[in-house]
Amino acid sequence: MAKIQMKTPLVEMDGDEMTRILWAWIKETLIEPFVDLKTEYYDLGLKHRDETDDQVTVDSANAAKKYGVAVKCATITPNAQRVEEYGLKEMWKSPNGTIRAILDGTVFRAPILVNGVKPTVRTWKKPITIARHAYGDVYKNTETRIPGAGKAELVFTGADGQETRKTVFEFKGPGVLQGMYNLDGSITSFAHSCFRYALSIGQDLWFSTKDTISKVYDHRFKDIFAELYEKEYREAFEKAGITYFYTLIDDAVARVVRSEGGFIWACKNYDGDVMSDMIATAFGSLAMMTSVLVSPDGQFEYEAAHGTVTRHYYRYLKGEETSTNPVATIFAWSGALRKRGELDGLPELQAFADRLEKAVLDTINGGIMTKDLALLYEGEARGVSSREFLEAVQGRM
Ligand code: NAP
Ligand code: MG
Repeated sequence: MAKIQMKTPLVEMDGDEMTRILWAWIKETLIEPFVDLKTEYYDLGLKHRDETDDQVTVDSANAAKKYGVAVKCATITPNAQRVEEYGLKEMWKSPNGTIRAILDGTVFRAPILVNGVKPTVRTWKKPITIARHAYGDVYKNTETRIPGAGKAELVFTGADGQETRKTVFEFKGPGVLQGMYNLDGSITSFAHSCFRYALSIGQDLWFSTKDTISKVYDHRFKDIFAELYEKEYREAFEKAGITYFYTLIDDAVARVVRSEGGFIWACKNYDGDVMSDMIATAFGSLAMMTSVLVSPDGQFEYEAAHGTVTRHYYRYLKGEETSTNPVATIFAWSGALRKRGELDGLPELQAFADRLEKAVLDTINGGIMTKDLALLYEGEARGVSSREFLEAVQGRM
Protein backbone atom coordinates (compact mmCIF):
# COMPACT_ATOMS: atom_id res chain seq x y z
CA MET A 1 0.00 0.00 0.00
CA ALA A 2 1.41 3.41 -0.98
CA LYS A 3 1.82 5.78 1.95
CA ILE A 4 -0.05 9.08 2.01
CA GLN A 5 2.25 11.95 1.13
CA MET A 6 2.47 15.26 2.98
CA LYS A 7 3.57 18.67 1.71
CA THR A 8 4.32 20.88 4.72
CA PRO A 9 5.78 19.42 7.92
CA LEU A 10 3.80 19.31 11.14
CA VAL A 11 5.51 20.92 14.08
CA GLU A 12 5.99 18.02 16.47
CA MET A 13 6.45 18.91 20.15
CA ASP A 14 7.48 15.85 22.10
CA GLY A 15 6.93 15.75 25.85
CA ASP A 16 7.36 13.86 29.10
CA GLU A 17 6.76 10.68 31.06
CA MET A 18 3.95 8.28 30.13
CA THR A 19 2.62 10.45 27.35
CA ARG A 20 6.09 10.54 25.78
CA ILE A 21 6.07 6.73 25.70
CA LEU A 22 2.57 6.70 24.18
CA TRP A 23 3.65 9.37 21.70
CA ALA A 24 6.30 7.10 20.15
CA TRP A 25 3.94 4.09 20.13
CA ILE A 26 1.14 6.06 18.46
CA LYS A 27 3.45 7.20 15.69
CA GLU A 28 4.86 3.74 15.22
CA THR A 29 1.58 1.80 15.20
CA LEU A 30 -1.01 4.19 13.86
CA ILE A 31 0.62 6.87 11.74
CA GLU A 32 3.92 5.91 10.18
CA PRO A 33 2.60 2.68 8.60
CA PHE A 34 0.07 4.77 6.62
CA VAL A 35 1.52 8.25 6.21
CA ASP A 36 4.92 9.33 4.94
CA LEU A 37 5.11 11.51 8.02
CA LYS A 38 6.87 14.84 7.71
CA THR A 39 7.51 16.69 10.94
CA GLU A 40 9.83 19.32 12.27
CA TYR A 41 10.72 17.79 15.61
CA TYR A 42 11.15 19.71 18.87
CA ASP A 43 11.95 17.85 22.05
CA LEU A 44 10.08 19.60 24.87
CA GLY A 45 10.97 16.82 27.28
CA LEU A 46 12.01 18.48 30.55
CA LYS A 47 15.63 17.35 30.26
CA HIS A 48 16.03 18.97 26.86
CA ARG A 49 14.19 22.13 27.91
CA ASP A 50 16.71 22.41 30.73
CA GLU A 51 19.67 21.79 28.42
CA THR A 52 18.51 24.53 26.05
CA ASP A 53 17.52 26.97 28.83
CA ASP A 54 13.96 26.52 27.56
CA GLN A 55 14.90 27.99 24.17
CA VAL A 56 13.46 24.86 22.52
CA THR A 57 9.98 25.81 23.75
CA VAL A 58 10.28 29.27 22.22
CA ASP A 59 11.66 27.79 18.98
CA SER A 60 8.82 25.30 18.76
CA ALA A 61 6.23 28.04 19.21
CA ASN A 62 7.88 30.11 16.50
CA ALA A 63 7.86 27.08 14.22
CA ALA A 64 4.12 26.70 14.91
CA LYS A 65 3.75 30.32 13.84
CA LYS A 66 5.70 29.66 10.66
CA TYR A 67 4.06 26.40 9.56
CA GLY A 68 0.59 26.93 11.05
CA VAL A 69 -0.05 23.48 12.57
CA ALA A 70 1.55 21.82 15.58
CA VAL A 71 0.89 18.71 17.63
CA LYS A 72 2.04 18.66 21.24
CA CYS A 73 2.62 15.92 23.78
CA ALA A 74 1.87 16.62 27.46
CA THR A 75 4.80 18.16 29.30
CA ILE A 76 5.84 18.55 32.91
CA THR A 77 5.40 22.01 34.40
CA PRO A 78 8.23 21.97 36.91
CA ASN A 79 7.68 22.59 40.61
CA ALA A 80 10.22 22.39 43.45
CA GLN A 81 10.04 18.59 43.50
CA ARG A 82 10.74 18.38 39.75
CA VAL A 83 13.69 20.74 40.07
CA GLU A 84 15.21 18.20 42.41
CA GLU A 85 14.11 15.12 40.46
CA TYR A 86 15.63 16.39 37.20
CA GLY A 87 18.44 18.49 38.70
CA LEU A 88 17.11 21.54 36.83
CA LYS A 89 19.01 24.80 36.44
CA GLU A 90 15.79 26.71 37.00
CA MET A 91 12.11 26.17 37.65
CA TRP A 92 11.17 26.65 33.99
CA LYS A 93 7.79 28.12 33.18
CA SER A 94 4.87 26.09 31.89
CA PRO A 95 5.53 25.28 28.20
CA ASN A 96 1.83 25.72 27.47
CA GLY A 97 1.97 29.19 28.98
CA THR A 98 5.02 30.10 26.90
CA ILE A 99 3.49 28.77 23.68
CA ARG A 100 0.16 30.47 24.38
CA ALA A 101 1.90 33.79 25.00
CA ILE A 102 3.83 33.58 21.71
CA LEU A 103 0.82 32.52 19.63
CA ASP A 104 -1.53 34.86 21.57
CA GLY A 105 -4.04 32.08 21.30
CA THR A 106 -7.23 30.77 22.86
CA VAL A 107 -7.63 27.21 24.10
CA PHE A 108 -10.66 25.21 22.93
CA ARG A 109 -11.48 22.04 24.85
CA ALA A 110 -13.82 19.39 23.57
CA PRO A 111 -14.76 15.91 24.80
CA ILE A 112 -14.54 12.79 22.62
CA LEU A 113 -17.83 10.91 22.85
CA VAL A 114 -18.25 7.13 22.81
CA ASN A 115 -21.51 5.20 22.99
CA GLY A 116 -20.98 3.43 26.30
CA VAL A 117 -19.95 6.50 28.30
CA LYS A 118 -23.08 8.55 28.81
CA PRO A 119 -22.87 12.25 29.70
CA THR A 120 -24.42 13.09 33.07
CA VAL A 121 -26.73 15.48 31.23
CA ARG A 122 -29.00 13.14 29.29
CA THR A 123 -29.87 15.55 26.48
CA TRP A 124 -26.24 15.98 25.38
CA LYS A 125 -25.65 14.05 22.18
CA LYS A 126 -22.76 16.01 20.68
CA PRO A 127 -19.63 17.54 22.20
CA ILE A 128 -19.69 21.00 23.73
CA THR A 129 -16.48 22.93 23.18
CA ILE A 130 -15.44 25.53 25.72
CA ALA A 131 -13.35 28.50 24.61
CA ARG A 132 -11.86 30.27 27.60
CA HIS A 133 -10.39 33.76 27.39
CA ALA A 134 -7.15 33.11 29.25
CA TYR A 135 -6.13 36.68 30.03
CA GLY A 136 -6.86 39.22 32.75
CA ASP A 137 -9.98 39.81 34.88
CA VAL A 138 -9.89 38.29 38.35
CA TYR A 139 -6.69 36.34 37.50
CA LYS A 140 -4.78 39.63 37.30
CA ASN A 141 -6.63 41.44 40.05
CA THR A 142 -5.41 43.74 42.76
CA GLU A 143 -7.30 43.31 45.98
CA THR A 144 -7.22 44.49 49.50
CA ARG A 145 -9.00 44.23 52.80
CA ILE A 146 -10.66 47.38 54.00
CA PRO A 147 -10.01 47.83 57.70
CA GLY A 148 -12.84 50.22 58.47
CA ALA A 149 -14.77 53.32 57.42
CA GLY A 150 -13.46 55.24 54.40
CA LYS A 151 -13.99 55.92 50.71
CA ALA A 152 -12.85 53.55 47.97
CA GLU A 153 -12.22 55.13 44.57
CA LEU A 154 -11.30 53.98 41.09
CA VAL A 155 -8.59 56.31 39.80
CA PHE A 156 -7.05 56.28 36.33
CA THR A 157 -4.13 58.58 35.58
CA GLY A 158 -3.59 58.94 31.84
CA ALA A 159 -0.12 59.10 30.27
CA ASP A 160 -0.80 62.84 29.91
CA GLY A 161 -1.45 63.18 33.64
CA GLN A 162 -5.22 63.55 33.20
CA GLU A 163 -7.08 61.90 36.04
CA THR A 164 -10.50 60.29 36.11
CA ARG A 165 -12.01 59.29 39.41
CA LYS A 166 -15.09 57.31 40.42
CA THR A 167 -16.35 56.38 43.85
CA VAL A 168 -16.58 52.63 44.30
CA PHE A 169 -18.10 52.69 47.78
CA GLU A 170 -18.30 54.70 50.97
CA PHE A 171 -17.34 52.11 53.59
CA LYS A 172 -18.96 52.47 57.02
CA GLY A 173 -17.04 49.47 58.36
CA PRO A 174 -14.55 46.76 57.33
CA GLY A 175 -14.83 44.83 54.07
CA VAL A 176 -12.97 43.86 50.90
CA LEU A 177 -12.14 45.59 47.62
CA GLN A 178 -10.74 44.53 44.27
CA GLY A 179 -9.71 46.06 40.99
CA MET A 180 -9.25 44.24 37.69
CA TYR A 181 -8.77 44.97 34.02
CA ASN A 182 -8.69 43.65 30.52
CA LEU A 183 -7.39 44.91 27.17
CA ASP A 184 -9.24 45.63 23.93
CA GLY A 185 -6.34 43.93 22.13
CA SER A 186 -6.65 40.73 24.12
CA ILE A 187 -10.43 40.61 23.81
CA THR A 188 -10.12 41.18 20.05
CA SER A 189 -7.59 38.32 19.71
CA PHE A 190 -9.92 36.10 21.70
CA ALA A 191 -12.83 37.00 19.44
CA HIS A 192 -10.80 36.33 16.26
CA SER A 193 -9.74 32.92 17.58
CA CYS A 194 -13.35 32.03 18.43
CA PHE A 195 -14.78 33.10 15.06
CA ARG A 196 -12.01 31.34 13.16
CA TYR A 197 -12.33 28.15 15.12
CA ALA A 198 -16.12 28.09 14.67
CA LEU A 199 -15.60 28.41 10.92
CA SER A 200 -12.89 25.78 10.92
CA ILE A 201 -15.11 23.13 12.54
CA GLY A 202 -18.43 24.39 11.18
CA GLN A 203 -20.20 24.82 14.51
CA ASP A 204 -22.29 27.63 15.99
CA LEU A 205 -20.56 30.02 18.37
CA TRP A 206 -22.19 31.18 21.59
CA PHE A 207 -20.74 33.92 23.71
CA SER A 208 -21.95 34.93 27.14
CA THR A 209 -21.11 37.57 29.74
CA LYS A 210 -23.02 39.48 32.40
CA ASP A 211 -23.34 42.77 30.52
CA THR A 212 -26.68 43.71 32.10
CA ILE A 213 -24.87 44.09 35.41
CA SER A 214 -21.39 44.98 34.20
CA LYS A 215 -22.52 47.71 31.84
CA VAL A 216 -19.04 48.92 30.86
CA TYR A 217 -16.64 46.06 31.49
CA ASP A 218 -18.59 43.05 30.21
CA HIS A 219 -20.35 45.25 27.69
CA ARG A 220 -16.98 45.97 26.10
CA PHE A 221 -16.53 42.23 25.47
CA LYS A 222 -19.97 42.03 23.92
CA ASP A 223 -19.34 45.05 21.68
CA ILE A 224 -15.94 43.88 20.47
CA PHE A 225 -17.37 40.50 19.49
CA ALA A 226 -20.37 42.12 17.80
CA GLU A 227 -18.32 44.66 15.84
CA LEU A 228 -15.81 42.09 14.66
CA TYR A 229 -18.57 39.70 13.66
CA GLU A 230 -20.32 42.32 11.51
CA LYS A 231 -17.11 43.57 9.99
CA GLU A 232 -15.22 40.38 9.25
CA TYR A 233 -17.15 37.19 9.86
CA ARG A 234 -20.90 37.48 9.22
CA GLU A 235 -20.64 36.65 5.55
CA ALA A 236 -18.42 33.61 6.11
CA PHE A 237 -20.70 32.35 8.90
CA GLU A 238 -23.80 32.67 6.72
CA LYS A 239 -22.05 30.89 3.88
CA ALA A 240 -21.02 28.09 6.25
CA GLY A 241 -24.58 27.86 7.61
CA ILE A 242 -23.53 28.54 11.19
CA THR A 243 -24.58 31.27 13.60
CA TYR A 244 -23.01 33.52 16.17
CA PHE A 245 -25.16 34.44 19.08
CA TYR A 246 -24.67 36.39 22.25
CA THR A 247 -26.61 35.85 25.43
CA LEU A 248 -26.36 36.47 29.17
CA ILE A 249 -24.27 33.94 31.09
CA ASP A 250 -27.23 32.74 33.17
CA ASP A 251 -29.37 32.28 30.08
CA ALA A 252 -26.45 30.45 28.43
CA VAL A 253 -26.15 28.01 31.34
CA ALA A 254 -29.85 27.16 31.08
CA ARG A 255 -29.65 26.72 27.31
CA VAL A 256 -26.50 24.60 27.50
CA VAL A 257 -28.10 22.16 29.92
CA ARG A 258 -31.20 21.84 27.74
CA SER A 259 -29.22 21.55 24.50
CA GLU A 260 -28.05 18.57 22.45
CA GLY A 261 -24.50 19.99 22.34
CA GLY A 262 -22.58 20.45 19.12
CA PHE A 263 -21.50 24.09 19.52
CA ILE A 264 -18.71 26.26 20.87
CA TRP A 265 -19.30 28.21 24.05
CA ALA A 266 -16.96 31.16 24.46
CA CYS A 267 -16.53 32.36 28.03
CA LYS A 268 -14.70 35.07 29.90
CA ASN A 269 -11.72 33.89 31.93
CA TYR A 270 -13.45 33.01 35.19
CA ASP A 271 -16.62 31.64 33.57
CA GLY A 272 -14.45 29.46 31.30
CA ASP A 273 -12.43 28.14 34.22
CA VAL A 274 -15.57 27.03 36.05
CA MET A 275 -17.59 25.89 33.05
CA SER A 276 -14.80 23.83 31.48
CA ASP A 277 -14.48 21.74 34.63
CA MET A 278 -18.24 21.33 34.74
CA ILE A 279 -18.44 20.28 31.07
CA ALA A 280 -15.42 17.93 31.32
CA THR A 281 -16.80 16.18 34.39
CA ALA A 282 -20.30 15.89 32.96
CA PHE A 283 -18.94 14.31 29.76
CA GLY A 284 -17.08 11.62 31.69
CA SER A 285 -13.29 11.60 31.55
CA LEU A 286 -10.27 13.88 31.35
CA ALA A 287 -8.51 11.19 29.32
CA MET A 288 -11.14 11.76 26.60
CA MET A 289 -10.74 15.52 26.37
CA THR A 290 -8.90 17.20 23.50
CA SER A 291 -7.50 20.66 23.46
CA VAL A 292 -6.54 22.98 20.64
CA LEU A 293 -4.83 26.34 20.86
CA VAL A 294 -5.95 28.66 18.07
CA SER A 295 -4.12 31.91 17.40
CA PRO A 296 -5.94 34.99 16.09
CA ASP A 297 -3.92 34.61 12.87
CA GLY A 298 -5.23 31.08 12.39
CA GLN A 299 -2.41 28.86 13.65
CA PHE A 300 -3.38 25.64 15.40
CA GLU A 301 -1.70 23.59 18.12
CA TYR A 302 -3.36 20.29 19.06
CA GLU A 303 -2.89 18.33 22.29
CA ALA A 304 -4.57 16.18 24.91
CA ALA A 305 -6.07 18.05 27.87
CA HIS A 306 -4.57 15.69 30.46
CA GLY A 307 -1.03 15.72 31.86
CA THR A 308 1.90 13.32 31.60
CA VAL A 309 0.20 10.65 33.79
CA THR A 310 3.15 10.43 36.18
CA ARG A 311 1.84 7.59 38.34
CA HIS A 312 1.55 5.31 35.32
CA TYR A 313 5.05 6.28 34.17
CA TYR A 314 6.64 5.22 37.43
CA ARG A 315 4.88 1.86 37.09
CA TYR A 316 6.07 1.61 33.48
CA LEU A 317 9.65 2.27 34.62
CA LYS A 318 9.33 -0.71 36.98
CA GLY A 319 8.53 -2.85 33.98
CA GLU A 320 4.74 -2.99 34.47
CA GLU A 321 2.35 -2.86 31.51
CA THR A 322 0.11 0.16 32.03
CA SER A 323 -3.36 0.83 30.80
CA THR A 324 -2.94 4.52 30.05
CA ASN A 325 -5.58 5.93 27.75
CA PRO A 326 -3.97 7.18 24.51
CA VAL A 327 -7.22 8.42 22.90
CA ALA A 328 -6.84 12.17 23.49
CA THR A 329 -3.24 12.04 22.24
CA ILE A 330 -4.28 10.11 19.12
CA PHE A 331 -6.97 12.74 18.49
CA ALA A 332 -4.33 15.46 18.84
CA TRP A 333 -2.46 13.77 15.97
CA SER A 334 -5.57 13.23 13.86
CA GLY A 335 -6.67 16.82 14.46
CA ALA A 336 -3.29 18.17 13.39
CA LEU A 337 -3.06 15.90 10.33
CA ARG A 338 -6.59 16.81 9.25
CA LYS A 339 -5.84 20.52 9.57
CA ARG A 340 -2.56 20.09 7.67
CA GLY A 341 -4.44 18.24 4.92
CA GLU A 342 -7.05 20.99 4.79
CA LEU A 343 -4.46 23.78 4.52
CA ASP A 344 -2.34 21.93 1.95
CA GLY A 345 -5.24 20.62 -0.13
CA LEU A 346 -4.56 16.95 0.66
CA PRO A 347 -7.96 15.20 0.86
CA GLU A 348 -6.24 11.84 1.41
CA LEU A 349 -4.59 13.10 4.55
CA GLN A 350 -7.92 14.48 5.79
CA ALA A 351 -9.59 11.17 5.04
CA PHE A 352 -6.82 9.37 6.92
CA ALA A 353 -7.51 11.50 10.02
CA ASP A 354 -11.21 10.59 9.80
CA ARG A 355 -10.36 6.91 9.42
CA LEU A 356 -8.00 6.96 12.38
CA GLU A 357 -10.62 8.55 14.64
CA LYS A 358 -13.25 6.12 13.44
CA ALA A 359 -10.96 3.16 14.12
CA VAL A 360 -10.43 4.41 17.68
CA LEU A 361 -14.15 4.93 18.31
CA ASP A 362 -15.09 1.61 16.69
CA THR A 363 -12.55 -0.20 18.85
CA ILE A 364 -14.06 1.29 22.01
CA ASN A 365 -17.64 0.82 20.84
CA GLY A 366 -16.62 -2.78 20.11
CA GLY A 367 -15.82 -3.22 23.80
CA ILE A 368 -12.01 -2.86 23.83
CA MET A 369 -10.63 0.06 25.83
CA THR A 370 -8.16 1.08 28.51
CA LYS A 371 -9.16 0.42 32.11
CA ASP A 372 -10.10 3.99 33.00
CA LEU A 373 -12.85 3.86 30.36
CA ALA A 374 -13.87 0.28 31.10
CA LEU A 375 -14.79 1.49 34.62
CA LEU A 376 -17.20 4.08 33.22
CA TYR A 377 -18.49 2.00 30.35
CA GLU A 378 -22.11 0.82 30.29
CA GLY A 379 -22.03 -2.51 28.49
CA GLU A 380 -19.59 -5.30 27.70
CA ALA A 381 -16.08 -3.90 28.14
CA ARG A 382 -12.61 -5.43 28.16
CA GLY A 383 -9.96 -3.30 29.88
CA VAL A 384 -6.63 -3.78 28.08
CA SER A 385 -3.14 -2.30 28.24
CA SER A 386 -2.17 0.72 26.15
CA ARG A 387 -0.21 -1.54 23.82
CA GLU A 388 -3.11 -3.93 23.29
CA PHE A 389 -5.45 -1.04 22.68
CA LEU A 390 -3.16 0.50 20.05
CA GLU A 391 -2.79 -2.87 18.35
CA ALA A 392 -6.56 -3.32 18.28
CA VAL A 393 -6.92 0.09 16.63
CA GLN A 394 -4.14 -0.78 14.18
CA GLY A 395 -5.99 -3.98 13.33
CA ARG A 396 -9.04 -1.93 12.32
CA MET A 397 -6.92 0.48 10.33
P1 NAP B 1 -2.45 13.94 34.83
O1 NAP B 1 -1.16 13.59 34.20
O2 NAP B 1 -3.53 14.39 33.92
O3 NAP B 1 -2.94 12.68 35.65
C1 NAP B 1 -3.77 12.71 36.78
C2 NAP B 1 -4.46 11.36 36.96
O4 NAP B 1 -5.57 11.29 36.06
C3 NAP B 1 -3.59 10.16 36.60
O5 NAP B 1 -2.78 9.76 37.67
C4 NAP B 1 -4.62 9.15 36.18
O6 NAP B 1 -5.28 8.59 37.30
C5 NAP B 1 -5.64 10.01 35.46
N1 NAP B 1 -5.32 10.16 34.01
C6 NAP B 1 -4.99 11.31 33.35
N2 NAP B 1 -4.80 11.05 32.06
C7 NAP B 1 -4.99 9.74 31.89
C8 NAP B 1 -4.91 8.87 30.77
N3 NAP B 1 -4.59 9.33 29.55
N4 NAP B 1 -5.15 7.55 30.95
C9 NAP B 1 -5.48 7.07 32.16
N5 NAP B 1 -5.58 7.85 33.25
C10 NAP B 1 -5.33 9.15 33.12
O7 NAP B 1 -2.26 15.13 35.90
P2 NAP B 1 -1.19 15.32 37.08
O8 NAP B 1 -0.83 14.01 37.68
O9 NAP B 1 -1.77 16.38 37.90
O10 NAP B 1 0.09 15.91 36.36
C11 NAP B 1 1.21 15.12 35.93
C12 NAP B 1 2.18 16.04 35.19
O11 NAP B 1 1.54 16.52 34.01
C13 NAP B 1 2.61 17.25 35.97
O12 NAP B 1 4.01 17.36 35.93
C14 NAP B 1 1.97 18.44 35.27
O13 NAP B 1 2.82 19.55 35.27
C15 NAP B 1 1.76 17.91 33.88
N6 NAP B 1 0.60 18.48 33.15
C16 NAP B 1 0.78 18.81 31.86
C17 NAP B 1 -0.25 19.27 31.09
C18 NAP B 1 0.00 19.62 29.65
O14 NAP B 1 1.10 19.48 29.17
N7 NAP B 1 -0.99 20.05 28.93
C19 NAP B 1 -1.54 19.38 31.65
C20 NAP B 1 -1.72 19.01 32.98
C21 NAP B 1 -0.64 18.54 33.73
P3 NAP B 1 -4.82 7.20 38.01
O15 NAP B 1 -3.39 7.41 38.43
O16 NAP B 1 -5.78 7.12 39.15
O17 NAP B 1 -4.97 6.11 37.00
MG1 MG C 1 -10.28 25.15 36.87
